[in-house]
Amino acid sequence: MRISARSKITSLNGVGEKVQSNFKSLDISNIGDLIRFIPFKYRDTTDISDIKTFKEIGEGTFLAQIVNAKNVFTRYGKNFTKVQVKDSENKLNLTFFSQPYLSKTFQPKGWYIFDGKTTTKGKSKNIYNPKYEKYSGDISMQITLGKIFGTYHETKGVTSRQIRKLLLQLKDDIPRLCKEYLPKTILEEEKLINIGEALAQIHFPDSTQSLQLARERLGFDEMLRIAIKIEKQIEEQSRKTSLAIKINKTLQNKFLKSLPYKLTNDQQVCITEIFDDIVQTHPMNRLLNGDVGSGKTVVAASAILQTLNCGYSAILLAPTTVLAKQHFETLTQLLKPFKIDVELCISTKKTISDSNNKLIVGTHAILFQKDLPKNLNLIIVDEQHRFGVRQREQLLNIKENTPHYLTMTATPIPRSLTEVVFGSTQVSTIKEMPKNRIDIKTKYVPIKKRVDCFKWVDTKIKDKSSSEQAFVIYPLIEDNDTNIRSVKTQYEKLTNSHFKDVKVALLHGKMKDKDKNKILTDFKKKKFDILISTSVIEVGIDIPTATIIVIENAERFGLAQLHQLRGRVGRGDLQSYCFVIPSENIDEREKALERLKYFTTHKSGFDVAQYDLSQRGPGEVYGVVQSGIPRFKIADLSDIKLLTKARQVARKLLLEDNSTLDKISNKLFK
Ligand code: ADP
Ligand code: MG
Repeated sequence: MRISARSKITSLNGVGEKVQSNFKSLDISNIGDLIRFIPFKYRDTTDISDIKTFKEIGEGTFLAQIVNAKNVFTRYGKNFTKVQVKDSENKLNLTFFSQPYLSKTFQPKGWYIFDGKTTTKGKSKNIYNPKYEKYSGDISMQITLGKIFGTYHETKGVTSRQIRKLLLQLKDDIPRLCKEYLPKTILEEEKLINIGEALAQIHFPDSTQSLQLARERLGFDEMLRIAIKIEKQIEEQSRKTSLAIKINKTLQNKFLKSLPYKLTNDQQVCITEIFDDIVQTHPMNRLLNGDVGSGKTVVAASAILQTLNCGYSAILLAPTTVLAKQHFETLTQLLKPFKIDVELCISTKKTISDSNNKLIVGTHAILFQKDLPKNLNLIIVDEQHRFGVRQREQLLNIKENTPHYLTMTATPIPRSLTEVVFGSTQVSTIKEMPKNRIDIKTKYVPIKKRVDCFKWVDTKIKDKSSSEQAFVIYPLIEDNDTNIRSVKTQYEKLTNSHFKDVKVALLHGKMKDKDKNKILTDFKKKKFDILISTSVIEVGIDIPTATIIVIENAERFGLAQLHQLRGRVGRGDLQSYCFVIPSENIDEREKALERLKYFTTHKSGFDVAQYDLSQRGPGEVYGVVQSGIPRFKIADLSDIKLLTKARQVARKLLLEDNSTLDKISNKLFK
């Protein structure tokens, strides 16, 4: 039987049930999966030197002949194999640990290619466990050494070497097994190589150039998948209609005059962008991205005011009841001079009246309300976590005319990501903070100053003249067997030591919503001074007298998340503080501290997110599950040029017929 891409990997030599089940944990069950499992790094061993050059450089690939190979057993039970090799001019000793069979493998006079490096210990120089492969007399016949070879992610029972060996059985068949699915014209225009060739070269590159071409092709496929999704969404949206909202400039000016401050430039620009959208007979689909405290609410209020002025209704959705109530109060206040009917709708309190045109502020409970206003024409969603879209669809498909849609987030999302994740969405960004803001003093507290930090907080809290409040944040709810602290234990410890005579409360994600809300409301009412919490405290919670946030085991959080936490303070006109304390013993200490120090010296969420993104990748920063962020193996998420190119191609394909497009999109490399 001829192998096909759908054949089980057991059809390869050397793969039995045991190996098959090991491969399962890498998501590899058939030949096609194996071929699409690509190396994450490469080593180029094509530059083969002699012993002399190897000795000079101290590392690399060299060709040598075995002189002898002896097993040595030491008194301490450590055994190793000493191998002497030579070439026409020089000799060299190699040491292999725990592989006594090598004394048989390395037969005198045999030629081998070695790849390794010299380790210097005092005066002695040693070469430990170099890679080796028998030299066949013809480099083109080598499997690994003498070639550019890839290293694969490994798992229990599956080594990179094993993966390479299995693929080698398929090497010549890859082009046959992976038939091209992209039209020839596109390959020619975009100068892309065939998929089969690309996959063969990605495993067994002939040269750095051919590897590069393979990467270009596969990266293009990854981006094209996203591009097709984006272009399809755009096409679907373009078929939708909505009712235009006429902008009343006099009203807007009146609104601006009613505010106790002047808008920042960025706020103005965002309002203009939104107004330009809602005057159209085609639905707005916009994301308003601005740091915590950048003033998104007033931008939203401008749009709401115009919507209601035209006789339509609007809805504003918040993720929690606390935030919904907060918005309800703020918007009632902001819109007071304009006689607008503002209603609150949360699960415990539904007050939808029969007033004709109104603003409803609420949680997602509104979604399950049957009678949404017939004249609903603007939907605003605040803090739509995880970039979710399902609920949006639910909201937007309710009527013949689609309401205009605005989503707001305080998660700073760098431009490069918004293009890929929100390709079919327009993005407005507020980068500039209101002028009157006092910068939050952010300090890195070394672990030995931890106690001093708590003492300082305690003193500050007890200062009757200011009555300020503090958050203390931990990564865990309960202890595990690491040195990471948990809220429960620290709550016990701190209330018995540093915070003995101040009022402290505990908050974490496993508590009931009702209890969480009560604690936050009580904190806002100053019923206690310190809140010891996990990172659950919502983005956007507005407690102006909370001026201190201490974050322990701080390196456990992403910088974007630390920034969100920092945004919980600095919401009033008092000087605020954010203290980050690292764990006692941390892996990769230097790197972790460098990240934390970057955080303490940068106040813009966009800077922090961009830095985090370049250091840790989008999955780590925003969480991959449900986030809508594609997981690219090759393409660079921020490669806007590639995205633009892919989108052009996607549009071309879209013009042909839909079934071809779906077929292609299912086959694309991912
Ligand atoms: P966020 O973007 O986090 O939702 P808010 O809309 O809650 O921010 O605004 C934060 C605070 O800043 C509010 O108290 C608001 O009144 C105030 N604010 C908004 N815009 C300005 C401005 N241009 N100048 C001064 N204060 C402003
Ligand atoms: Mg807000």
